[in-house]
Amino acid sequence: MSGLDLIAFDADDTLWHNLIHFEAAEKRFGEMFSHHMAADTATARLMEAEKRNLGLYGFGVKSFTLSMIETAIEISGGAVDSATVSKLIAMGRSMLDHEIELLPHVEETLKALAAEHRLLLVTKGDLHHQERKVLASGLAHFFEGVEIVSDKKSATYEKICRRHGGKVERTLMAGNSIRSDVLPMIHAGGFGVYVPFDILWDHEHEDVPPGTPRYFEVKDLRGVIEVVKTLA
Ligand SMILES: [Mg+2]
Repeated sequence: MSGLDLIAFDADDTLWHNLIHFEAAEKRFGEMFSHHMAADTATARLMEAEKRNLGLYGFGVKSFTLSMIETAIEISGGAVDSATVSKLIAMGRSMLDHEIELLPHVEETLKALAAEHRLLLVTKGDLHHQERKVLASGLAHFFEGVEIVSDKKSATYEKICRRHGGKVERTLMAGNSIRSDVLPMIHAGGFGVYVPFDILWDHEHEDVPPGTPRYFEVKDLRGVIEVVKTLA
């Protein structure tokens, strides 16, 4: 038994693929509007809209779909036809409906850790979509709690620990985003483990200040088991 009360995991691009679906849709969007401007430029305009809308719409596919429609109207000078809008809506729908593809070593890692620890899943995005993904992943039984939150701030992690009867100083959060999963948890007083993923949404990019205590970086998810052992 280690000195940890709770071990929390991010979901998107930590346990299963997520960003590949956004990247594919962004690329396809650019191609759809390449008669108005270079495809790359159209994609970049969409990504600007996504960022601009985050504060109001929050994270997730539904917000992304609205941003696609908004950008299509902008790019076309208001001339976008309803068939194109329907296509964008269909793209959004298929993103909500795709199969869950687990990342490597997910099941073995969760299984090993769940044998001796209380695990939590902490994810942000559309409530409905995230609930569906958790169910479809077949991983729900490993977790004592699933927390779907609108954003991941230090206060979010403090609240979650309190709710699950764990001390934040004795809680570890592992995920692929330094900005959302790692630093706010460390600022709250817990441990943060960075599990890199090949692609990172640039909104989530942040550097870890040198000498940050309670910070770990691992090669893949199995590394979390090693970190937990060192904290024992
Ligand atoms: Mg993530």
